[in-house]
Amino acid sequence: MEASANLIDFHCHLDLFPDFEEMVAATEAAGIKTLTVTTTPRAFPRNLEITKKTQHVRAALGLHPQLIKERASEFTLFSDLLSQTRYVGEVGLDASPVHYGSFGQQQKIFRKILQLCAEAGGKILSIHSVRSATKVIDLLESELPAERGRAVLHWFSGSASEAVRAVAAGCYFSVNGEMLRSERMRPVLLARIPRERLLTETDAPFVEQNGRKTCPQDVGRVVAELAKLFRCTETEMRIALMANLRDLLRLPTEST
Ligand code: MN
Repeated sequence: MEASANLIDFHCHLDLFPDFEEMVAATEAAGIKTLTVTTTPRAFPRNLEITKKTQHVRAALGLHPQLIKERASEFTLFSDLLSQTRYVGEVGLDASPVHYGSFGQQQKIFRKILQLCAEAGGKILSIHSVRSATKVIDLLESELPAERGRAVLHWFSGSASEAVRAVAAGCYFSVNGEMLRSERMRPVLLARIPRERLLTETDAPFVEQNGRKTCPQDVGRVVAELAKLFRCTETEMRIALMANLRDLLRLPTEST
């Protein structure tokens, strides 16, 4: 199998690399199924432009919870741009101490984002849920029924019982190398999350590997570690993950 065949990076930030366009071109050439997320609606038009003709790289419209304090006013722009894409991210909640000051506002905006997505139908969301998985799942349950859109929890770090609730709510999970190195997360992944709900991600450039920033090409290593955890071969894992991606993209309300 070709080194980069059947690889998926369902959450990375290619526009945060200094050579954004080259990163998109290299990822496209490698054939890695990539979702490059944005942190502000303002960044989205250029992302859309650069991924207009790519076959493997898609751009998502985001409003990062860590930026809500300064960027809440961009919600209007988010809602204006939403019809241009079926991919939404990075959105969600962050209740870590540094961002707790805006947690109330984050919840208001995330609820509105979910409502807009439910109304539009067919959206696929990449969701941040740091120290707030329960709240994220509550909001998904109340605002985004599974038939109106799909949620992928990116870098999930919740408890075993939160994982069980998220699975019941229909969530997918995009897993990165940090999660697989976490002694706390490995048993949760293995015991609570069905293999049918897994995807992979790098969260590049935020996750480091061997002291350097990751890029989508590094996602092969995540697949290898995941295969080891689930006791299957890498090839089997690649095939299983691709099937998961196909299932995820096959939404009941799919537009295109
Ligand atoms: Mn991210």
